[in-house]
Amino acid sequence: MRTIGLIGGMSWHSTESYYRIINETVAERRGGHASASIALQSLDFSIIRDCQLTGDWDRAGELLATAARGCVAGGADVVAICTNLMHKVAPAVEAAVDVPLLHIADAVAGVATPRDWDRLGVLGARWVMEETFYAERLARHGIAAVTPEAEDREVVDRVIFDELTQGRVLAESRAAYVGVIERLAEQGAQAVVLGCTEIGLLVKAEDSPLPLICSAEAHARALAEVALEAPTPA
Ligand code: GLU
Repeated sequence: MRTIGLIGGMSWHSTESYYRIINETVAERRGGHASASIALQSLDFSIIRDCQLTGDWDRAGELLATAARGCVAGGADVVAICTNLMHKVAPAVEAAVDVPLLHIADAVAGVATPRDWDRLGVLGARWVMEETFYAERLARHGIAAVTPEAEDREVVDRVIFDELTQGRVLAESRAAYVGVIERLAEQGAQAVVLGCTEIGLLVKAEDSPLPLICSAEAHARALAEVALEAPTPA
């Protein structure tokens, strides 16, 4: 099996989901005691959050690039950034290692395309919703991103950083997100990308008026498929 390099800790609440989903997928497919070979570099999110708030994306890129090198030193054959937002510095990570980066938006598109969804609502950190790096990656797959109005974007971003990345899951925030999803449906979204890896801890399919694509789940499952592509040595 190939070794998966995870650049995690952003936040650890979602990195835990990656670890579980990758191992569950490998166990389902291989049976018995099979589990994934994972090289994890888990960053201190307080440092990354400071970089975000001060706009020091170069420093963030260096920190993630160093983590990627650590994954490769630990045997990784592929690396993944376990957050949507930090794909803003994906080029720095790709430049740092000679193994492929599996981009989270490509994994999301891998769920949408077979379902013929080409107009997706996107919920995430404000940079994910307001800048072009994420929408452009979806556009490579022929998918248009529909983002919430300003007031809703503010709520979505606040819940992520004041609550979800600190492990707080509140019913009132779930209700607020459902309202945002209803408005994305009015804007013509066919489904909604949970484009922050912690949102899946808050909003589940049964809560939502539209189908959901959980970015953490899509990414982790795609990584497990990469791990399983290479045969287990005899
Ligand atoms: N985990 C979140 C994401 O997927 C946000 C945390 C972060 O990386 O800043 O975008």
